[in-house]
Amino acid sequence: MKYRYATALNCIDGRTQIPVTEWIINHVGVDFVDLITEPGMDRVLSHGSWHEIDKIRRNAIVSIDAHNSHVIAVVGHYDCAANPVSDFQHLDDINNSVQTVKSWCLPVEVIGLFVDAQWRVHVIPN
Ligand SMILES: [Zn+2]
Repeated sequence: MKYRYATALNCIDGRTQIPVTEWIINHVGVDFVDLITEPGMDRVLSHGSWHEIDKIRRNAIVSIDAHNSHVIAVVGHYDCAANPVSDFQHLDDINNSVQTVKSWCLPVEVIGLFVDAQWRVHVIPN
């Protein structure tokens, strides 16, 4: 059996991993989720240096090449220590992060997710 994978570009924050992984498995329809983490991932992908962003891009390519992932989810969350901004600013950062990932022109769908104060996962329309 061949497993289906998606890829999450998420914060290091442990509170986000289970909600995000479960949401992607249930809503994207995959068996497993590869996790690529950085403190404040939505800050890095929207405001980070070329070097920081390129490291994430190369890690995402490993997930796509090794596991044939067809979806990348970019995640921001409430109460982020590494991106301590308002929920509204998170939405903006997530949208800009989605644009960054789309600019890599990888053969994947890119979605933006926000994890709120109750650790519920929301899709950010773009
Ligand atoms: Zn965080």
